[in-house]
Amino acid sequence: MPDARRLRDLLIGRILATGPLTIADYMADCLLHPSLGYYSTRDPFGTGGDFITAPEISQMFGEMLGLCLAQVWIDQGRPKLFSLVELGPGRGTLMADVLRATRAVPGFVTAARVHLVEASETLRQIQADTLFGHDVTWHGTVNDLPDLPTFLLANEFLDALPVRQHVRDGNTWRERLVTETEGALSFALGPAMPMPELNYHNVPAPLPDGTLVERCPALPGIVGTVASRVARGGTAIFVDYGHWRSRGDTLQALRNHTPEDPLAHPGQADLTAHVDFEAIARATPASLCSVSAMISQGVILERLGITARAQALAQSMGGARLNAHVAAHRRLTHPSDMGDLFKAMALVPVGAALPPGFDQ
Ligand code: SAH
Repeated sequence: MPDARRLRDLLIGRILATGPLTIADYMADCLLHPSLGYYSTRDPFGTGGDFITAPEISQMFGEMLGLCLAQVWIDQGRPKLFSLVELGPGRGTLMADVLRATRAVPGFVTAARVHLVEASETLRQIQADTLFGHDVTWHGTVNDLPDLPTFLLANEFLDALPVRQHVRDGNTWRERLVTETEGALSFALGPAMPMPELNYHNVPAPLPDGTLVERCPALPGIVGTVASRVARGGTAIFVDYGHWRSRGDTLQALRNHTPEDPLAHPGQADLTAHVDFEAIARATPASLCSVSAMISQGVILERLGITARAQALAQSMGGARLNAHVAAHRRLTHPSDMGDLFKAMALVPVGAALPPGFDQ
């Protein structure tokens, strides 16, 4: 039986036995079911996969972010031992680019201990190959990260975390659920319930009935733990597609580079939701860390010097390679491409300067 049908039948069995699933439960199984989940069964990146991420588009993405981390390391007095962390490293390309670019910064790589947080065994193998020759430690969750100064990157990690969806109804909320109708998966609304934790959405003005908001139940715990490590020194930079304050249904499925109904092929399509950067800021304990403004990817990469780097790399290129390089630069930074949709936000210990580019 095809895997999508096996996972669908398994989910329908569970719905019939114990009731509808939250969108978050559905996403979690579709992405990370140990034998049928999307990330557990494949390498989804690159032209042969379902989507291309910024580090796979150009080495310049990792170079800019790596040198940004290294500048913070210098500004904070060059701690002798620190964790260089990536959450959800995919193929390991970003970390490889960071380690290569920062070789030019004396002492940085020697002081770094590389820690990767990755749930997928398949992707851990690929990361090990990409980072061959480096001493790398893997963890299943951020809770296992050492209590050291921490320089952390997370690109397109938070968007893979499951979200729940809530629709406003009078003074209450109804949760959007995944249920079963005539043997197929379908969406339905649950009973109306008060949700005090969502009330901030009604400030300054009450939301119109029918408005859908998303919240990511795992995000506050992850950001809180990251903040506790960064409070020892360092910085955390989150990059993802999203916005300030969740509004509307952003759950999306991508299979073979094509958007499709999120219920169509469970476990075969990448499922993501836009990241609510306000939730990152709200989850950061003010006693531990300060949070930068949310900055678009295009702006932060320009401030970090991507255009000068692009020009330097272009010197030794010609023909198709040069065309691809110019297109990659545009793709990462142009507002009509990833430049505006993707945002970045940085955490630093209370009292520390924000990373370069985040401080203007
Ligand atoms: N950062 C990479 C890959 C982004 S895809 C890039 O930019 O190319 C999301 C990554 O997060 C994958 O490596 C996936 O396996 C991992 N991941 C998703 N959910 C996770 C979870 N709950 N815990 C740990 N890793 C997770």
